[in-house]
Amino acid sequence: MQNVTPNIFTETKVRGCNPSYITTSDGVVVIDTPQLPTKAVQMRKEAEAHGPIRYLINTEHHVDHIFGNYYFKGAGTVVHHQGVYDNFMVVGPELDPFAYAQEALPTDDPDGAAIFPDREEYYQDPNKGQIVFTGDLTLRVGGHTFELIHTPGHTPGQVAVHVPEERAVFTGDTVFSECQTWLMTSNVDEWLTALETIRDLDIDYVVPGHGPITTKEYLFVQRSMLMEWKTAVAAAVAKGWSREETVERVHFKDRYPVDIGQEYMMDYINEWNAGSLYDKLTA
Ligand SMILES: [Zn+2]
Repeated sequence: MQNVTPNIFTETKVRGCNPSYITTSDGVVVIDTPQLPTKAVQMRKEAEAHGPIRYLINTEHHVDHIFGNYYFKGAGTVVHHQGVYDNFMVVGPELDPFAYAQEALPTDDPDGAAIFPDREEYYQDPNKGQIVFTGDLTLRVGGHTFELIHTPGHTPGQVAVHVPEERAVFTGDTVFSECQTWLMTSNVDEWLTALETIRDLDIDYVVPGHGPITTKEYLFVQRSMLMEWKTAVAAAVAKGWSREETVERVHFKDRYPVDIGQEYMMDYINEWNAGSLYDKLTA
């Protein structure tokens, strides 16, 4: 894992989100968990070497941010927004999250198969929220403050975790740093507002949901990507293109690579992004 500051540890180089932990004078706070089983077990061990885990915060309900919670049972209190709780590992038309976690094993975590639960066993206790909130929530641990700011858009229960003492914010997938943006379960207008909320923070480090650590400057790039997507699909609708034609012709595949381990999903992402926007703009 990489140090963002001496107290912040984050992993940007394995398949899944950028799981992180912060060390404080009174234990550790985990933000999002590794999707790959052996990585989850390993990160828990590493984090606990710095002291007991006090809280595990999930920034959103997408499988690559929450599946690893299963391997953090008994390690601190799980905290997330009502919108994460309500959508936790729920099968949607675009994705079966459990199957998605499983399909990554052969290529990205063969050793994880031995500790991968069967579906029924998993759903009995996936380790979801013990503290579930609406609005914003502030936690204090040791000398650190963790401001959980509701920033819906990418997902309904999205939070940004602002840690003023570290001059850092953990945005979840409100920021895709130098990689493809997934927006099929999103409200793009709310997402643009979320970016403005984050831009108001007095910070030096933006820990994105995917891709390298970045800065506030990159918020403009993310904003542009969202606006370009929406404008391109709106223009397609205005030209009278069908959904099929829009999905085929509107894409941003040349803009960025897909995040690590998901390279094979380039078409899927672009087709679902275009299709979901088409449905929303023609509803
Ligand atoms: Zn996401």
